Amino acid sequence: MQLCAADRVLLSLALTLSLAGCGSPATPAGSAPQASSTATADVSFVLDNAIVVTMDGSGRVLSPGSVAVDGTNIVAVDTPQAIAAKYRGRQRLDLSGRIVLPGLINTHTHAPMVLYRGLADDLALMDWLQKYIFPAEAKTVSPEFVRVGTRLAALEMIRSGTTLYADMYYFEEEIAAETRAAGLRGVLGQTIIQFPVPDAKTPADELQRTDAFIQRFKNDPLITPAVAPHSMYTLDQATLLASRDLALKHGVPLLIHLAETQDEVKIAQEKYKQRPATFLDSIKFWAPVTLAAHGVWVSPEEVSMLVARGVGISHNPESNMKLASGTAPVPAYLKAGAKLGLGTDGAASNNDLDMFEAMRQAAFLHKLVSNDPRVVSAKEALAMATIGGARALGLEQRLGSIEAGKLADLIAVRTDAPRQVPMYDPISHLVYTTHGDDVVLTMVNGQVLMRDGVVTTLKEAQVLQDARAAADQVRKAVQ
Ligand SMILES: [Zn+2]
Repeated sequence: MQLCAADRVLLSLALTLSLAGCGSPATPAGSAPQASSTATADVSFVLDNAIVVTMDGSGRVLSPGSVAVDGTNIVAVDTPQAIAAKYRGRQRLDLSGRIVLPGLINTHTHAPMVLYRGLADDLALMDWLQKYIFPAEAKTVSPEFVRVGTRLAALEMIRSGTTLYADMYYFEEEIAAETRAAGLRGVLGQTIIQFPVPDAKTPADELQRTDAFIQRFKNDPLITPAVAPHSMYTLDQATLLASRDLALKHGVPLLIHLAETQDEVKIAQEKYKQRPATFLDSIKFWAPVTLAAHGVWVSPEEVSMLVARGVGISHNPESNMKLASGTAPVPAYLKAGAKLGLGTDGAASNNDLDMFEAMRQAAFLHKLVSNDPRVVSAKEALAMATIGGARALGLEQRLGSIEAGKLADLIAVRTDAPRQVPMYDPISHLVYTTHGDDVVLTMVNGQVLMRDGVVTTLKEAQVLQDARAAADQVRKAVQ
């Protein structure tokens, strides 16, 4: 009976169930069953006895800690004793020696491009795009190709702890259907580009496709459909504005590549006598939720402008390094309070979707370039990959941290690999030593997608076999 006083105060959920167990006068003597069952609320899962890195506003780390999940939501985060006193999980996952953290948010990718991974490396962006990627896409991208690629990408993301990704590609409705079937969460943008592409001949066709795509997925619990005008250098002003208007009409996010390379700045200067970000601002391009990928070649004034406009930025350090696109002014973005997320970019320019690696590279890159090891701390890198990504996508009220009331998108990583021993600081370990392969649990929307290496929503062998078969088509296309 010692639980009862605390429960009355703390546990509104349980009150409806079990005041009887606390000796309510309305309860006939002898009918009060076991105190433990009546004093606790049944929930779907208790993730028990872990180190919980919450990424909440106060940066709480519970060691040990437990998380109660019911249905699609996190209902409580506390010490194992406090959780045990209030909740009984229909499934209890013993996560001793594991770190539980928010699911990672990849704010920029092109999921099906995993099928072009390693196809053409060591090239400059414009050569890479125009000589290899655009021609290969013209010959191979089809609804089936996109489905096969998305399943492979989903498998990789689930295994490496990504629970939400922002995507820009063609046949995005196929990507959405596969993302949903895999149980992942996606902010998925149908690409709009000026030249003919596999799913449309003209920008007008693309806009129409996007409209239909948004209407189809608008109320999906896992999919947030979006409009994805490719970039200011591959679209004319009218199409950029039509894309924005479509996002405004449906109240959905707008995704775009921005100021990725010096070539883009050159094109903008020649065409509009303005830098890319300034040009987009001059045409009032921004929607309430706009996510700009890269934001590398921006001036200090443009950093301030993007922050003032509430534009989310996706930093993609590995892609930027591999294509030698440049170094985004991440310390300046952080200082200015930008909505800053982290992305991998498509696997053709990375060449994987491992967000742990992206965090580490983000921290290392800016230390090197700034000549200051204090910039982009482990905590800042982890924030970019979690709550920062949620902010950049306008989803921070529901995602990005482990807090009661938020959606249950969570992962757990092992800490017993030789390179992880000993451990003094879990956040340091998450950023500087953990690999995607260390993920042992991936949960999205309260559903376990992977536990101890077993992915529940995809047939792994089939996914790999289909991807290898698709690669044969790619090889033929670029011969
Ligand atoms: Zn990209």
